[in-house]
Amino acid sequence: MLIPVCAKNNDRMSSFHQIEVECPACRARQDIRIWQAIDAARNKEVREQLITGRINYFYCSSCRFEGEIAAPLLYYDTEKQFCASYVPAEYLDDEEYVSRTFTPDGTVRAGGFAEGGISPGTDYFRHAHIVFSLPELIRYVLFRERVSQLVPPVSGGEP
Ligand SMILES: [Zn+2]
Repeated sequence: MLIPVCAKNNDRMSSFHQIEVECPACRARQDIRIWQAIDAARNKEVREQLITGRINYFYCSSCRFEGEIAAPLLYYDTEKQFCASYVPAEYLDDEEYVSRTFTPDGTVRAGGFAEGGISPGTDYFRHAHIVFSLPELIRYVLFRERVSQLVPPVSGGEP
């Protein structure tokens, strides 16, 4: 089950924030950490947490209800040079979010993902791979990491 939360926040410096969530089953409230952006090259532990399903996942300590958190999540890897973004399907109904984030041809606007600290206009950022579920984001990350091993990374200059 998806747990909707209002996780919109334009603080460019933080890649997560703490939010109080009410358990949909028992109404118990607890603080959870909502990640908005993951810089995988600089934050390998967080990447690991994502892959193992511990990012943006709710687990009620009172009744043990659990579910994914429906909050947009931007993932980028500056070493492997790719970017993927989870957009909860519900957000497509949000006119303001959609027009602020995307262009009519489906690419990402410069500054479209306010939560990501990477430079707008970067090609792989503009052409971020958009997914509509968190498991798909994880699969895509694993896919890109897998194929990145096929060819040597392009480097700016050999010493
Ligand atoms: Zn509960």
